[in-house]
Amino acid sequence: MNTEHLFPHNTNDIARAGYLLRAGELVAVPTETVYGLAADASNAAAVAKIFAAKGRPADHPLIVHLAGLDQLTRWACEIPDWLPPVLTQLWPGPLTVILKKQPHVSDVITGGLPTVGLRVPNHPVLRDLLQQFDLAVAAPSANPYQQLSPTRAEHVLAGLRGKIAAVLDGGPCTLGTESTILRIDHDHAEVLRQGPLSAATLQELLPVPVHTPVRHQHAVSGNKKVHYRPRAHVQLLPSEALQQQWPQRHATTGKRVGALVYSAPLDGDTTAVLRVPPTHHDYRQRLYAALFELDQRGLDEIWVELPPQEPEWADIHDRLQRAAGSADERESATDQH
Ligand code: AMP
Ligand code: MG
Repeated sequence: MNTEHLFPHNTNDIARAGYLLRAGELVAVPTETVYGLAADASNAAAVAKIFAAKGRPADHPLIVHLAGLDQLTRWACEIPDWLPPVLTQLWPGPLTVILKKQPHVSDVITGGLPTVGLRVPNHPVLRDLLQQFDLAVAAPSANPYQQLSPTRAEHVLAGLRGKIAAVLDGGPCTLGTESTILRIDHDHAEVLRQGPLSAATLQELLPVPVHTPVRHQHAVSGNKKVHYRPRAHVQLLPSEALQQQWPQRHATTGKRVGALVYSAPLDGDTTAVLRVPPTHHDYRQRLYAALFELDQRGLDEIWVELPPQEPEWADIHDRLQRAAGSADERESATDQH
């Protein structure tokens, strides 16, 4: 399959993306978090193609992306009265809510669960597309299973070229990590995946307690220990340890080692060192692109300077830990492909 590279400033290209989605094809679309691999959510056969293209297990549910809050009741039921006013403040934005699904929502989307994940993305191009074509799209991140989420159209093409009909190029994503996922109950809510919207901010806005369990039983692929993973082995090191070990990196490992830093000054040959900005917003936006770029340099290991231990960095720590994974889990994860 020839994957078309579409550009939103060209109105014919938006129409082309809408036509392809309506025809049951897969189109990678920009969102403010990461690029999504979209299929018409009302077409189960189209949604099934997502799993084939990504190599994703069928029991991992997908998030449905809506044009606006007014679409909520089309997809979810048993919505607590307190939720719509809260969503008026947070949508469009990086928050996915898990609610009881309407009976028509396909098991292909929910992985057989009685619930569905819903979000209104804050990207003008995607919202335009959804509104113009009266579409809701199921869209996981547009990458092969367990690899890094794409924050640029080129990353999508590197992983999925030939497997999808098109990518709509909306430029670099402004946020850069996946949405916060919140399971909604009448008397409480639970963060299932950390994201750009922190649990503390959610607690300020919600009239019910917001729980943040460390690990849980729900089927959330972002909750697997190995995920969001570059090819090179990732190791997380505090700044001082990184600076101490860096000069001996070749002698001690015998490998090609690179580094991702935000503050540590590293001496010597730094062609394999990438520096990302030290504020959590800018760091988040650059993180996946930086790991992607280091991966392109053919390294065996990427040493990552541990970011500050502050609440606004929680989702970044979460993604870095999953990128690092442990050796055992890497092997069993590879077996699943
Ligand atoms: P991605 O892994 O990039 O496809 O992001 C989609 C995330 O939303 C995954 O972690 C899914 O498991 C999660 N998700 C979607 N729907 C549900 C649901 N009904 N219950 C729990 N998690 C969900
Ligand atoms: Mg993903």
